[in-house]
Amino acid sequence: MSKEPVERFPTDGALPDLDDIRSAAARIAKFIGRGALVKSHALSRGGAGGADIRLKLETLQPTGAFKVRGALNAVLQLSRTELDAGVVCASTGNHGRAVAYAAAEVGTRAVVCLSRLVPQNKIDAITGLGGEVRIVGRGQDDAQREVLRLTREEGLTEIPPFDHRDVIAGQGTVGLEIVEDWPDVDTVVVPLSGGGLVSGVAIAAKALKPKVRVVAVCMARGAAMAASLKAGHPVDVDEVPTLADSLGGGIGLENRYTFTAARRWVDDVVLLSEHEIAAAMAHLMLAEGLVVEGAGAVPVGALLAGRVKDARRVALVISGRNVDSETVRAVLSGALEPGEAS
Ligand SMILES: *Cc1c(COP(=O)(O)O)cnc(C)c1O
Repeated sequence: MSKEPVERFPTDGALPDLDDIRSAAARIAKFIGRGALVKSHALSRGGAGGADIRLKLETLQPTGAFKVRGALNAVLQLSRTELDAGVVCASTGNHGRAVAYAAAEVGTRAVVCLSRLVPQNKIDAITGLGGEVRIVGRGQDDAQREVLRLTREEGLTEIPPFDHRDVIAGQGTVGLEIVEDWPDVDTVVVPLSGGGLVSGVAIAAKALKPKVRVVAVCMARGAAMAASLKAGHPVDVDEVPTLADSLGGGIGLENRYTFTAARRWVDDVVLLSEHEIAAAMAHLMLAEGLVVEGAGAVPVGALLAGRVKDARRVALVISGRNVDSETVRAVLSGALEPGEAS
């Protein structure tokens, strides 16, 4: 990862800090409570020197993913006038679901703009929460254009999926809880897409424990933040179908917060093949009894592939569970090899 100065990129507005993340935790507590951090015996056993591997189960959140944290933290800070007009977002699914959930909690309208790549189960989940869905174009960028139009022409407030202080602070409560619950943790492994989760987690974890290593994981194909970190500035990549569909989409060429944060605080980026993601999903189902979507399984994939360096006391953020039954079947039939089901 190159380290030249980032000043030539828009960085208006400071990143959230530990205090912002603590405030977020207090603000959202009565809506979602605290997430579980549980030891994985299957993964700990295999590690050299008695590694201790724990799973931060964001799959247990009411919307099936951590994104409800950031959405609630943002929506709960809107004014009465803003709430009266409603909120809007673009999303590969889980953020849209989270915004719909948060909007329902405070009794406001949510419009969710999605691209055609989004699986039907995620669309159903949003409409089931009372959110209005608009399908536009074939990628995040098209969906984003529709969001802009709705903010300008209909006065809705955008709740962005990652590049927003309140959203980052909300996601940071994941890191806060991990270090509070397990002060001895030395590595936190986090799925990476737009970088809201990894930014928040890194800010909280490193503020409480500066030596903590933060490892970000994404799919090898179509990983915008990984490509941007490599290039030294935000770049676009072609969006391609992947098992980790929640990790698709760009980081925005005008990225304000998460590129800077990821560049500053992510210690290592691991890229996984589709096969490695499938193996991680199969492990979670067969060895841990957990249904996890591809995006949520990538930290396990990085560990299983031996790509988490010095893995001793490692927290894996299992970020979401929202996968359709077809994909589950495909993963189990393709990845289930003799010996893997133990
Ligand atoms: C959004 C999402 C991610 C990635 O979060 P970013 O903040 O965009 O990096 C990871 N896993 C799941 C399940 C998600 O929905």
